[in-house]
Amino acid sequence: MRPETLAVHAGAEPDAATGALSPPLHLATTFLHAPDGSLPHGLIYQRTDNPTQQRLEVALAALDGARRALFFATGMAAVSAVLQALPAGSHVLLQDDLYHGVRTLARDWLPRWGLSASFVDCGNLDAVRAALRPETRLLWTESPSNPLLRIVDIATLAELAHAHGARLLVDGTFASPALQQPLALGADVVLHSATKYLGGHSDVMGGVLAFARDDELAQRCFEVRNVQGASASPFAAWLVLRGLRSLHARLAMHVANAQRVAEFLAAQPAVEAVHYPGLPTHTGHALAARQMRGFGGMLSFQLRGGRDAALRVAGALRLFQNATSLGGCESLVEHRASVEGAQPVSPQNLLRLSVGLEHGEDLVEDLAAALVRSSA
Ligand SMILES: *Cc1c(COP(=O)(O)O)cnc(C)c1O
Repeated sequence: MRPETLAVHAGAEPDAATGALSPPLHLATTFLHAPDGSLPHGLIYQRTDNPTQQRLEVALAALDGARRALFFATGMAAVSAVLQALPAGSHVLLQDDLYHGVRTLARDWLPRWGLSASFVDCGNLDAVRAALRPETRLLWTESPSNPLLRIVDIATLAELAHAHGARLLVDGTFASPALQQPLALGADVVLHSATKYLGGHSDVMGGVLAFARDDELAQRCFEVRNVQGASASPFAAWLVLRGLRSLHARLAMHVANAQRVAEFLAAQPAVEAVHYPGLPTHTGHALAARQMRGFGGMLSFQLRGGRDAALRVAGALRLFQNATSLGGCESLVEHRASVEGAQPVSPQNLLRLSVGLEHGEDLVEDLAAALVRSSA
């Protein structure tokens, strides 16, 4: 079955009890035991597992070509779970351009958990090879990355990690399973913030780990979720399952709109640089064309007028709402350096766009008007 069909039908068998075609939402926290103490439906307690989430996990595993998928309360809960599943003393090697929450966790929290972390440019394979240590258990990459939309070579990094006895995790949030299949390229784990494209409507939080093998790491992550309580509510699982049905349709329009917006921005004299893998000038363009089914709905750009110009443009936009997050129907603009806390790593003149599902020409007109207004 093709991915679009899977997204509509996976985890969607009609309800056996009622014939309802859309998935039932089971809010039960507890499930009946049999007189002999066994569990007739394999379920005991909502934190451990529940029927709505089980349907979602079937669908998530199908979309990523995974042997097992786990759903968490947030993307960061999924991030924490996979890190806490590693044995004490492990080293984690992380890409240098990545989601700032992961950077904070790696820098400030891993040492408290008896793990060590270091950062490397995953576009430089010699540097990656040199940075892998005997105790490295996990190589952590993000592609496209946040906020510079860097593309890394997933297949080559998987080979490198495996040759050193480490696993490769890819944070695929910006691409979603609709545009990129890291497990098919050799990665061991894919992570998604379901809060973004999987949910797709800016109204639900969730995180996903999808595993190439149903092995000890996957089982440990399941146990971390259960024991540390990083479980999502069934309603969140239900909303994400609902979002998945339209994932491919939405992504197709996000991609078309983002390409249009990127081409417009690249032609503006006030714009110093546009970071979008769909532009032939982007350093990762050829690689993205090989390893993705589309270039995504996210882009960032830098203004010649520095931080002030970036803030003025963000303030002058009308359709693009100035807010964090991404992957919803509405377009968003964000000055990343302002939200990265005390040690921002994003350039001060950079704005990140989550290009939504409005008409592409309305988005271009909004940007054109904002560039005029903010230079006046
Ligand atoms: C948002 C995001 C996360 C964290 O997910 P939450 O659902 O906000 O906890 C992780 N990685 C990337 C790339 C993200 O965009």
